[in-house]
Amino acid sequence: MIIDAHAHLGTDLVFDEVREESDILKKMDEHKVDVTIVQPMFGAVYIEDIRAIHDRIYQFASAHPKRIYGVASMPPLIPESDYYEEARRCVKELGFVGIKLHPAAHGTSPTSKRGEMVWKVCSDLGVPLMVHTGAGVPAALPANVIGRCKQYQDVQCILAHSGMISFAGEAFLAAKECPNVILETSWTAAHHIEHFIELYGADRVMFAGDEGTNLVVELAKYRSLHISPEELEWCLWKTANQVFKLGF
Ligand SMILES: [Zn+2]
Repeated sequence: MIIDAHAHLGTDLVFDEVREESDILKKMDEHKVDVTIVQPMFGAVYIEDIRAIHDRIYQFASAHPKRIYGVASMPPLIPESDYYEEARRCVKELGFVGIKLHPAAHGTSPTSKRGEMVWKVCSDLGVPLMVHTGAGVPAALPANVIGRCKQYQDVQCILAHSGMISFAGEAFLAAKECPNVILETSWTAAHHIEHFIELYGADRVMFAGDEGTNLVVELAKYRSLHISPEELEWCLWKTANQVFKLGF
């Protein structure tokens, strides 16, 4: 089984990308990905637009039960009451399985007060938080999550991209300091993935593509690693299944 823990749907106003439902399904079929966890593209700043993309992901998931799951993503700089209410709606009414923070695209460092709000919302709603790391430093430095992860030990924090090669050293540091840090490995070097597994265990390492055309690359990396079949299973789906509580 393969779970892709990180894919985007919609039109991105920050990175100028467009992905349709059909793009995601086509790549899943091509690479035998069983489940994809889908989050919005970036750039929606008005609550109506934020609700619309979350509704679109909900409809996508409803049309493909046990194949597509949703993750909420919106800038924490909108009014706090809007952020909290939309996060609650996504988790409690739409069945979303997590929340995403992109420190650069959302203009919110984990170390800021609005950054703290995101952890508090995840703690209250009982869902994991995925934080983008890598491109977009200094806000996106992996070490920025360490303080919050110690403060909110009940929130599992998934480091998307594990620092994206250049800042992998900080991803190692965050994982060492915080047992609630999970390492998501899209755009991560293969030898770093191998070291993550050796040092912290495969149950803290999570496969993802981030982008359909990248799935072939990410799968090839895992197939080149010197790890056991059981470790591979954890990375490819069991870790995501456990962290997002998917129930497979
Ligand atoms: Zn992404």
